[in-house]
Amino acid sequence: MFTSRLLNRYFITGEVALKTPLHIGSGKGDVETDSAVVRYLNGNPYVPGSSFKGVLRSTIERLAGALGYRTCCLDESSGSKCPTVDEEVQKGYLEMQERGEREEKLLEFLDKHLCDTCKAFGSPFAGSKVFVDDLGLKPDVHLDKREIRDGVGIDRDTGTAKGRVKFDYETVPADARFQMNIVAENATSQDLSLLAIALCEMQREGNLRLGGITSRGLGWGQLVDVQVRKIDFNGPPAVVREALLGDWRTLPAEGGADFVKEHLKTKEAPKPC
Ligand SMILES: [Zn+2]
Repeated sequence: MFTSRLLNRYFITGEVALKTPLHIGSGKGDVETDSAVVRYLNGNPYVPGSSFKGVLRSTIERLAGALGYRTCCLDESSGSKCPTVDEEVQKGYLEMQERGEREEKLLEFLDKHLCDTCKAFGSPFAGSKVFVDDLGLKPDVHLDKREIRDGVGIDRDTGTAKGRVKFDYETVPADARFQMNIVAENATSQDLSLLAIALCEMQREGNLRLGGITSRGLGWGQLVDVQVRKIDFNGPPAVVREALLGDWRTLPAEGGADFVKEHLKTKEAPKPC
């Protein structure tokens, strides 16, 4: 159920361990390469939160339907459309807004019409409940040298490979590790189940695919060391105050396997979660 009051806040942390080199292009080249990876000002590469969130969402979209959830696919080529795109629904929502319907009624309408993925990850009508920070390199990872690979130039007119065009791109080495921080607010048990589906899937080796050129094996990895912490705003005020003012990293943590088991309602934690 959508609500404007804050009910809970989940902190999901983990580590992305790359198994193959990663290319997330910055859209720019430099003297050493045609396509450099995205970097912070300090020179360290990172994975943009928006990019990771996209992978999280599409992982859920691929599986949620088979597990009995209602989901759309933002990838239009799949032919599946979110109910929110339905013109009649859009019209109905705008009409309700125009006649100054109470917020409670508008939220009820969204609850009825939005698919389960859009309820958690946002749609043109409702904001996202899931926020993903940029994933920085783990502090103990040091990348001394740049990795440049030869690619295949693409003919802009025909879209086909053009052998004689020289093109290269930079990759982040295969053994790099990134810190993942996700915050979910007002997550319902359904939102948590969807997150559990993605966390379970991404913890399997090679099932997490980030960045570009993944079809040729780049950007494969897995999520490790997942932990979940929570602030329950319905708890005793003294406890809530303590949790809000203190460092959330010191809150009691639940392991990723237990989180998946609890929210997918399985008897055993799926291996290797
Ligand atoms: Zn949707």
